[in-house]
Amino acid sequence: MEDQSQNEDIAGQAVQLHGHRELQVRRCETRGLDNIAPLSLSSDDLQPNEKSSTQGYNMRAVVFDSFGGPLRVTQVADPVVEDDGVVIEVKASGICRSDWHGWLGHDPDIAAFPHVPGHELAGVVEETGKSVTGWKRGDRVTLPFVCGCGTCPECLSGNHQVCDRQFQPGFTGWGSFAQYVAIRYADANLVRLPEEIGFVTAASLGCRFSTSYRALVAQGQVAADQWVAVHGCGGVGLSAIMIAHALAARVIAVDIDAGVLELATSLGATATIDARENADVPGSIRHITGGGADVSIDALGSVATCTNSILCLRKRGRHIQVGLLAGDDHLPRLPMHQVIARELQLYGSHGMQACRYGEMLAMIVSGKLSPAALIGKTIPLDDAPREIEGMSEFGNVGITVIDRF
Ligand SMILES: [Zn+2]
Ligand SMILES: [Zn+2]
Repeated sequence: MEDQSQNEDIAGQAVQLHGHRELQVRRCETRGLDNIAPLSLSSDDLQPNEKSSTQGYNMRAVVFDSFGGPLRVTQVADPVVEDDGVVIEVKASGICRSDWHGWLGHDPDIAAFPHVPGHELAGVVEETGKSVTGWKRGDRVTLPFVCGCGTCPECLSGNHQVCDRQFQPGFTGWGSFAQYVAIRYADANLVRLPEEIGFVTAASLGCRFSTSYRALVAQGQVAADQWVAVHGCGGVGLSAIMIAHALAARVIAVDIDAGVLELATSLGATATIDARENADVPGSIRHITGGGADVSIDALGSVATCTNSILCLRKRGRHIQVGLLAGDDHLPRLPMHQVIARELQLYGSHGMQACRYGEMLAMIVSGKLSPAALIGKTIPLDDAPREIEGMSEFGNVGITVIDRF
């Protein structure tokens, strides 16, 4: 399907080296969960996907019936195409730590059982709803993890990533750990895949990579020769390093693992800082850059990395928060006096809208970006339950993609 062989070693390292820290980097690492308290639901609740279709899909999917309950692969009800939606035959689906959070009940968007997770997908359009105009059976597509409705004020302003009525496969509806998935709002969210981009690579873009892309390009406005600091080199951070390097920026990677920092260097980092051995990360970045970074991203999500990211900026620099601050860190004390005195700019970043995928895909086709380098392994659907459960042990993360259904 696509040549990942030369990248597998690098990706394998990422898997091993990042396990314990990726736990803290949440769904799409930006999804901005307002409330991560577990829900109490009755498994008697039915959800819309259980309507039956005339298509006779006979499909298998990964299912769970309670938060933290057994994950199993079984035959499930057919997907139902909505008037504004499509049914996609899933060809590849990335497994993200957010799926693990969803399974354990950390996500209030999962509101009924049985539930099918999966939100980073690529595939082929199988069926279209009555009002869909831009897509037909057989089209090769992917989509953002946030699907905007296309008609609310945010969508009309071009900001589908913060839609008022967003559909999220695998969270607000059944997802893509299945042979087929029903997607809402197809005309506003499907992205046509260039022939050069295989399904596995496309699936790996769904949250971490596209989120980093939007963070640096749209929010950070990163330009050539600017300094970009990346705090935390997990999936988002390594993606950010690759993207910033491709934009001809100079990158400083910060982590607490020497092996990860070597990987960061191989992906284009100009300088690295081991935060375990450096008591003044912001001071070191200001020194290296001669005044501070133009753009800095907290790709991890902690009080320490967020604070360092703000304090390492030059005057009028831009901090971008991508890692979710969870648990005790969710209301951090931050150096707002510096934000005022240095006129710093603070941004969030929440996925990336479909209408902005084109420029990122073009950079992949041209070889400027190689997201396949961040893929660890591909697995069959039947192995997905074990893969998700394995994330509880911290060692089983990285970009794993289901490619056999
Ligand atoms: Zn994700
Ligand atoms: Zn909308």
